[in-house]
Amino acid sequence: MRRRVIAGNWKMYKTLAETRAFFTTFNPLVANSKHCDIVVGPPFTAISTALDSVKGTSIAIAGQNVSWSQDGAFTGEVSAHMLAEAGCRYVIIGHSERRQLFRETDDNVAKKTLISLESGLTPIVCLGERQEDREAGLTEEVLGRQFTGGPGALTPDEFSRILLAYEPVWAIGTGRTATPEIAADAHAFLRRCAGEKFSIRHASALRILYGGSVKPDNIQGLMAQEELDGALVGGASLDPKSFAAIVNFE
Ligand code: PEP
Repeated sequence: MRRRVIAGNWKMYKTLAETRAFFTTFNPLVANSKHCDIVVGPPFTAISTALDSVKGTSIAIAGQNVSWSQDGAFTGEVSAHMLAEAGCRYVIIGHSERRQLFRETDDNVAKKTLISLESGLTPIVCLGERQEDREAGLTEEVLGRQFTGGPGALTPDEFSRILLAYEPVWAIGTGRTATPEIAADAHAFLRRCAGEKFSIRHASALRILYGGSVKPDNIQGLMAQEELDGALVGGASLDPKSFAAIVNFE
């Protein structure tokens, strides 16, 4: 059985004081939660405060983005090496907001994934179709293209060190969750892509998180699907009680 991962993506929310307050409430609520890996992705400015706040717990911290370059004159960017040195263990790559608002391409995603692995981070690589893709029957074509251009460009060994997050764009921040069956179908498709590109062993070990309006009241239905190996949670990860209720789904 693949170990589940529940990851929170705070996006551009939370000051340092709010970060401390979050963990003061959250940590005791998940202190006995041994059934899954717990990850929180604060904004860059709050990473160090978050790391201080989770010392002595099993909660891991993630960057929400990373540069594809090791270093250089890239104003506003943060490197994988910097994230790893700061104490992050994970990094979210290719979130749909990065793809749509900041024009990130599959090639960017592949480069960011590779450089993150080189720095010892575990990339959480996001992919997902838009509403219009789904309506046009193009879901698998879009997912297949994102897979091939991003994680599919890795070596088998590199691929075995990443997580995928299936995040249908139409479900992110909209309150419209994919039904557990829709999510499971997409996960099964991505697992088939991994099997065809790498091996059955890689496919069955691959952990795929679902993201898109995950809340305390739908997490159980989603996690009842064997194909779903966890969740990437946006809005509901901002409130410590609601995120703890998601972590404690079983
Ligand atoms: C996300 O930002 O990755 C996300 C899934 O957001 P939300 O849970 O708010 O839909």
